[in-house]
Amino acid sequence: MAANIENFDFDPEKLRQKYREERDKRLRSDGNDQYKEVKGDFSYFVEDPYVEEKTERESLKLHTEIAIIGGGFGGMLAAARIREAGFDDFKIIEKGGDFGGTWYWNRYPGASCDIESYIYFPLLEETGFVPKRKYTNAPETLEYCGVIAEKFKLYENSILQTEVTETKWSDDSGLWTIKTNKGDEITANFVVHSNGPLNRPKLPAIDGINDYKGHTFHTSRWDYEYTGGSSHGDLKNLSDKRVAIIGTGATAVQCIPHLGASAKELFVFQRTPSSIDVRANKETDEDWFASMKSGWHEKRRANFEGFLAGEFSGEDLVNDGWTEIFRTILSAFRASGPSKLRMASWVLLAPFNKDFYKKGLKPYMADKFMNFVGKENISNKVEMVDFAKMEQIRARAEEIVKDSNVAESLKPYYRQFCKRPCFHDEYLDTYNRENVTLVDTQGKGLDKITEKGIFFDGKEYEVDCIIFATGFEVGTDYTRRSGYEIYGRKGLSIMDKWKDGLSTMHGMHSRGFPNSFFFGPQQAGFTANYTHSLDEQSIHLAYILKSMREKNMSLVEASKEGEENWVKTIIDNSRDMLSFQESCTPGYYNNEGKPMQAPQNNPYGGGALNFFKLMKKWREKGDLKGLELSSNNYN
Ligand code: NDP
Repeated sequence: MAANIENFDFDPEKLRQKYREERDKRLRSDGNDQYKEVKGDFSYFVEDPYVEEKTERESLKLHTEIAIIGGGFGGMLAAARIREAGFDDFKIIEKGGDFGGTWYWNRYPGASCDIESYIYFPLLEETGFVPKRKYTNAPETLEYCGVIAEKFKLYENSILQTEVTETKWSDDSGLWTIKTNKGDEITANFVVHSNGPLNRPKLPAIDGINDYKGHTFHTSRWDYEYTGGSSHGDLKNLSDKRVAIIGTGATAVQCIPHLGASAKELFVFQRTPSSIDVRANKETDEDWFASMKSGWHEKRRANFEGFLAGEFSGEDLVNDGWTEIFRTILSAFRASGPSKLRMASWVLLAPFNKDFYKKGLKPYMADKFMNFVGKENISNKVEMVDFAKMEQIRARAEEIVKDSNVAESLKPYYRQFCKRPCFHDEYLDTYNRENVTLVDTQGKGLDKITEKGIFFDGKEYEVDCIIFATGFEVGTDYTRRSGYEIYGRKGLSIMDKWKDGLSTMHGMHSRGFPNSFFFGPQQAGFTANYTHSLDEQSIHLAYILKSMREKNMSLVEASKEGEENWVKTIIDNSRDMLSFQESCTPGYYNNEGKPMQAPQNNPYGGGALNFFKLMKKWREKGDLKGLELSSNNYN
């Protein structure tokens, strides 16, 4: 449902003030240090509860042409795309017991994806898979990972249940050596680092966290042996249990309805409420799906990206909560009076008019429109649209939740993209259950954990189980998040190389780390439809490897100039998000209230779609500009 911005009924200044107050309650000096690294005494939180049989095996000593670290969508796509390009000598090293990455670990009840499945699932035209619903869930996503693995014969190339502990380059041999927790020593000509941006679970450093004597686990290692049930819910064993969950982010929003339905009593400890919009999932119309013409998948993904980039892309194919906000912004300009409306509608209608594209008028019109409306006016309008949208979200909480105090606690007071927007149709209603208590910590978090449960505001909540829905490390350094160090030329570590800010070419290469490819949003295209970005990076990787093979080259590295130019491009194009992020309530989107200062740590500021286009153009030119290639490994 689009937010109504024409007849809004709010006082923008009052809302600004309220947003500031709510943010100030949550600001804290320790930022990211409020979280504990999950290791040592806490390492039981990251053990694999899903693996059916732990593999005991001899250490491996082997050589492979390409080592891919990580068997999530990134690693699988890298493997699929290089297989398509004619490379078969590769190994995928994955710490989990199977492919899936995020989806291997996050099997909590209700786990699902709120990016439309028809764009989130990569390689849909290649596999012919038909997702059952508009929004998929964890079991179907894991099933699909299996489909990709079978289709591209990835099991033949996999080393599962194996965690990489170090990768090291040797100038003497011109090879990487990869060490693992199984004592393996694997040499490789090329290494692809695809270790996921949300890989390391984090725990709040709450007093007494290790004193608790009851049962406890993190949502990314759900203990079904304890709770019973499955990703679909029905957690039978909780029917006589008092359960506490800490956190109300995107993960908690999905599992709380199942916990509420199954537990004898559920206590939800909230620091900041999420924004909960309508989800409206629906079954796939198979006839519609079958009627799609070749190339539909790419077109649909690009269409979604276009909306997220705020481009005027015509028909909204995905048409969901993500794209809605941008449609609403456009419609805001409709209300700006006849002359602006005329201008706006030219721009709005242009994409529906094929001739408009043919004449190449679109960019010209868009520029003219921007000049006419004025930049300041635009940011003001965007803020109004945001207020209106969030008013609608808050009204939804009031409408669904019967107890008005609880409803008030569930209202998010911040701009929509300060935190990840959530979409759920049962979450809010869960608070109408008698057995569910929302403990609103007013932005503070709990006071401490005791032997028996949780202590907050003078009261001890005795519980049988505490579930941490406290998310993943994001703002910590690359090495800590990936779990292994990377040593390049002359023993330089990637941690040292990037200590004052990221330095890459296209986000993928970093000078001093030859034949090494980095996947992820760093200095590259960032989008909510993350698999799209991984697919584009995989296509790019396959292109470079194939070009090298054709040119008979064995070594690739960013040139000094290539890397400097790219860092400059990132800085020059970085969106000035600092004031927006500073005004946001803390969370991982703004580095826990301490926004990153170094502009080169941003993704490509022109948006993901433009980044993909830029990379495509670069490939089409064929000169591999910015990279140094050689056929000699000993330089
Ligand atoms: P988040 O980091 O988003 O949420 C962590 C939660 O823990 C927040 O509510 C946080 O509160 C709370 N918290 C942290 N410390 C304390 C404390 N001391 N006391 C009380 N509460 C505390 O992690 P999630 O796992 O929820 O989500 C991570 C990301 O995974 C999402 O943003 C999304 O990108 C992805 N995801 C996507 C899904 C989808 O497609 N629908 C589903 C699930 C996850 P506060 O907000 O105050 O910091």
